[in-house]
Amino acid sequence: MRAPSLSPGPRRGSALKELGVIENGAVLCAGGKIVSVGTTKDALRDPWLKKQRKGIVEIDCSGKVVLPGFVDSHTHPVFVNPRLVDFEKRIEGASYPEIAAAGGGIRSSLEAVRKASKSCLSEKVLNEFCAMARHGTTTAEAKSGYGLTVESELKSLEAIREAALRWPGTVVPTLLGAHVVPKEFQGRSQKYVEIVCVKMIPQAARRKLAQFVDVFCDNGAFTPQETEQIFAAAEASGLPVRAHVGQLSETALEPFLRFHPASLDHLDHIREQDVARLAKLDTVATLVPGANYFLGTREYPDARRLIAAGVAVALATDYNPGTSPTLSMPMAMSLGCTQMKMSPAETIAAATINGAWALGLSHRKGSIEPGKDADLAGFGVSDYREIPYWFGANRCELTVLGGITPQPH
Ligand SMILES: [Zn+2]
Repeated sequence: MRAPSLSPGPRRGSALKELGVIENGAVLCAGGKIVSVGTTKDALRDPWLKKQRKGIVEIDCSGKVVLPGFVDSHTHPVFVNPRLVDFEKRIEGASYPEIAAAGGGIRSSLEAVRKASKSCLSEKVLNEFCAMARHGTTTAEAKSGYGLTVESELKSLEAIREAALRWPGTVVPTLLGAHVVPKEFQGRSQKYVEIVCVKMIPQAARRKLAQFVDVFCDNGAFTPQETEQIFAAAEASGLPVRAHVGQLSETALEPFLRFHPASLDHLDHIREQDVARLAKLDTVATLVPGANYFLGTREYPDARRLIAAGVAVALATDYNPGTSPTLSMPMAMSLGCTQMKMSPAETIAAATINGAWALGLSHRKGSIEPGKDADLAGFGVSDYREIPYWFGANRCELTVLGGITPQPH
């Protein structure tokens, strides 16, 4: 994933498929960082390596493909139970309001999170981070958003922080207090938005519990005006923003762009003029086809249209209990290929370097280059195209997180 020359910023257009594959490659890491990358022949000639040979841990990756660890830039891991009512009702053809009436939907996840202890949540989140690593993910964004009270949102962020301290990978915590309007504020969404703006955001910022503020802006969630209000509060607290937008309905993006969102996610529906606007910005369009797959929607986000226009596209799992219960980046890549017509190479760049851009971590993550964090994923395949090809199976055989190698899976 060595950066193509003359193109700073996230990968776009034809640069999205430039992988910089090195055959018979070797990566030298020290102190949690990548020191050099090249052919094995050259690595073995390195005078420093020759001197240190005994003290070095060598991982034999022959017959494997080694990638930069995946950067999953959109996940909701702080929940307690799977949403099996939603699953079954949806199969039977129920609409979202019918599912909510039957006791499903986002609101059905709230009670368990509000009741759960912080340690129980953090234990669960840690297990999920470990499972992500087994699928090749070394950096994960993690959103709160299933508490929706000041106390339970901060508790969710604390649980993420506790889990992050015990996981050798990298975690980017995001406050998603504006996920939906909780039942007790039904019909008084403005009151809830005020709590998000005046209490949740400033407290999360002051206690350094979140690196981003996210809003679900769509039908049944928050309006564009409320989204702007929440973005302004985030800006005032010094937190950058990202948003769920365009999943269910088309929303004008222009009013959000003055807040320089790191990423706008979903974008199943996007206006032509907004495609042109995004193409000029470093704001990443993060596509989450796992949600389309699981919801059984016929249409997927139009990745080809975005890539052709020069928009920087990333792929993420949107791991959550209601609409995308997968933490597999290779699965998201497979859907990228088969349903959104991205090439295998494009899905790899979208799952690594552009994910890093979506989290403001492009200087540390997303490519195997000297100076970056030693985050690697090794797959038991002989060609990178096999990674999205073998869908529904995990071919990841080893993960290196910040220079630390867990046991092979
Ligand atoms: Zn989401």
